[in-house]
Amino acid sequence: MKIYEMNNDERLDYLLKNKYLNAEQVEFLKSQQPLSQDIANSLSENQIGIFALPYGFATDFLINGQDFVVPMVIEEPSVIAAASNAAKRIKASGGFTVETAQHIMYGQIVLENGTADKIDILNKAKEDILKLARAAHPSLIKRGGDVVSARFELVDDCIEVKIGVDTLDAMGANMVNSILEQVAPYVSEMIGSTILCSILSNSGVSQVVKVSAAVDFEQLKTKTMSGQKVAERIVKLTEFSKFSKMRAITHNKGIMNGVDAVLLATGNDFRAEEAAAHSYFIENGNYAPFSDWKIVDGKLIGTLEMPIEVGTVGGAIRTMPMAQLSLAMMKVKSSQELQAVIGSVGLANNLSALRALVTTGIQAGHMSLQSKSLAVSAGATGDEINKISKIMNQSKKYTLAEAKRLLENLRNG
Ligand code: NDP
Repeated sequence: MKIYEMNNDERLDYLLKNKYLNAEQVEFLKSQQPLSQDIANSLSENQIGIFALPYGFATDFLINGQDFVVPMVIEEPSVIAAASNAAKRIKASGGFTVETAQHIMYGQIVLENGTADKIDILNKAKEDILKLARAAHPSLIKRGGDVVSARFELVDDCIEVKIGVDTLDAMGANMVNSILEQVAPYVSEMIGSTILCSILSNSGVSQVVKVSAAVDFEQLKTKTMSGQKVAERIVKLTEFSKFSKMRAITHNKGIMNGVDAVLLATGNDFRAEEAAAHSYFIENGNYAPFSDWKIVDGKLIGTLEMPIEVGTVGGAIRTMPMAQLSLAMMKVKSSQELQAVIGSVGLANNLSALRALVTTGIQAGHMSLQSKSLAVSAGATGDEINKISKIMNQSKKYTLAEAKRLLENLRNG
């Protein structure tokens, strides 16, 4: 039976049988208690309830030769289906290949009244500054992390002290901020400049992930279009997005559909990732697509290169049981492995969106999944939801009014 045809209990059984989850984790999911009051209260302020979102998983991710199921939290129909659909096509073509980089997070100390002389003083004291920065987080150094760089620059009339930290498996925002706040008074006193601020940068330039996949034409064909034709049209549309900012933005939104859903499922800071990803693709005022598609040697080659600013420890990940469960389901052991999964999901969602756009159009698949939401909005419950969805998918009339009319008909026999 296909996973999308299973009910919730059957899906949990599948995860249990295939050892993606253990019995305790399955029981936890069944208990429907994702967050205790105490944890919720400790995570943010003025808390009055728990805001729930659907939690599911995408299948068939073969990444660097290893199989993954990927937990995703998303309220938009079709994102998980799209990720799984493209992952299956890519798996049948050999899977994803991913390269990740060392996990460096940068922070800035901004000091007022900058001069070239002050930059000289700081450059001469670089080793002492690095030593102080390392001493600010001894547990990180002990674990194998490091303060890898300190650079000093005049920016406008201020001085920027840019510190680079290998934060290992932590996203690193708090770590870097703590280091900066200890170093700032020292450098401020050294050059007699007031501190304007000390804060990490979400730039992500040193957390870039490179994903690639070679897709067989056979995997792209539809009932009415050959795989080669689909591939050519995907390449054409991707080229167009390099010249059209309006299209590039939506191309990238499709990638972020998958990326954000895994970030949410793993308790990561999606605002940080959004800032890092979009800013990476603005050069000389131009905004570019995060991925590229080309035809090489009779295959459609997809590449995605983007910063992925995540952790597998620390922050909310440490406290939220659902985030822990998501990491366990993927069996990821490091922030780099999580980056590899997230990048692959981004490319998979991108392929599905492009394939749909250049063939049947996005609404065909999207609205058939949306029909269930329309049925619920119309007031349908239980079996009524699937019955109404089925009729709407046949008639292709996807409106709330139609869902209400069908519900009325159903209830009146
Ligand atoms: P933490 O402050 O929780 O630091 C990471 C923790 O993980 C440390 O306590 C560290 O222990 C522990 N740890 C255990 N194992 C490892 C390992 N293998 N590698 C690295 N650390 C390990 O979280 P972060 O510094 O990652 O900060 C992330 C949080 O900061 C997020 O919640 C984010 O929303 C928030 N934030 C984001 C900002 C932004 O993006 N602009 C700004 C401010 C906050 P030990 O202490 O023993 O080393």
